[in-house]
Amino acid sequence: MGPSYAYFQGKIVPIEEAKVSVMTHALNYGTGAFGGVRAYWNDEEEDLFIFRPLDHFQRILRSGKMLLMDLPYTPESMLNILLQLLQTENYHGEDIYIRPLIYKSSEQIGVKLHDLDCDFTMFALPFGSYIEKEEGSRVTFSSWRRIDDNTIPARGKITGAYANSALIKSDAVLSGFDEALVLNENGHIAEGSAENFFMVRDGVVITPPIYANILEGITRRSIIQLMQEEMGLDVVTREIDRTEVFIADEAFFCGTGVQIVAITEVDHRPVGTGKMGPIVGELRDLYFKLMRGMLPRYRDWNVSVYCTQPEPGA
Ligand code: PMP
Repeated sequence: MGPSYAYFQGKIVPIEEAKVSVMTHALNYGTGAFGGVRAYWNDEEEDLFIFRPLDHFQRILRSGKMLLMDLPYTPESMLNILLQLLQTENYHGEDIYIRPLIYKSSEQIGVKLHDLDCDFTMFALPFGSYIEKEEGSRVTFSSWRRIDDNTIPARGKITGAYANSALIKSDAVLSGFDEALVLNENGHIAEGSAENFFMVRDGVVITPPIYANILEGITRRSIIQLMQEEMGLDVVTREIDRTEVFIADEAFFCGTGVQIVAITEVDHRPVGTGKMGPIVGELRDLYFKLMRGMLPRYRDWNVSVYCTQPEPGA
């Protein structure tokens, strides 16, 4: 089921009223930036927990800065709006995906970033898995390259840049794979079409660095901490060659949308045993506890929807 409401042009309105013109600058030129945030239902507490919303809003506002957007919002005021939106939707008993979007809203022809209006909109809907086979996905190396930071800011979630992700994803799926790994212009692994990448070799967890043109993932950052603190693992950030994945013991994708997805085959070669390995298995268990607010040590990453009072008049 879709959402019933959206935050649009400064207020919460029925979703049918949240519509833009065909002349909207962002629709024509991809001059927007978006986020993907999840909120998880906790049965015992009968509450919904949003995962690290302030980090997500900070990232979207930073993408806005790159796009010369001057928005009258802060991460805190965006969170306040989100709480009001979720309380209005009154979702209970299911997990939710939240889509904030900032965009050049002027109805104007002309490719540029300056002297244009911008706006912020957001909606939230029930959402399950993004990749069906979370415990064993088949992956290929894409023939497309990941956008370079000198082409479109790779660390931003810029709407136009997602034409790159869409090319990558559709080629992979239409060729019978679940996802693709993408190389950067230097020929090293960057990430998946819309998720960060990790592999395990000889008990060490390895992930590409930010300068490999990856998105600065909030899940990536969170699980690095989790693997170090809760699983006692060494996590190394370094560039990864293509063929290293063929001989890795385990590999996985992570991201708000995909959550944690085991990669069990890459270009027809099994990863490790060809089944989800012990590190990915344990991480997945911890991850879902973390998301539902069940790890007390990280509880300040979970914002309660029904026990947090939004500030009036936001
Ligand atoms: N890389 C790309 C290209 C993405 O679109 C996403 C999803 N936002 C990620 C990585 C994962 O980022 P996060 O953990 O912040 O959702």
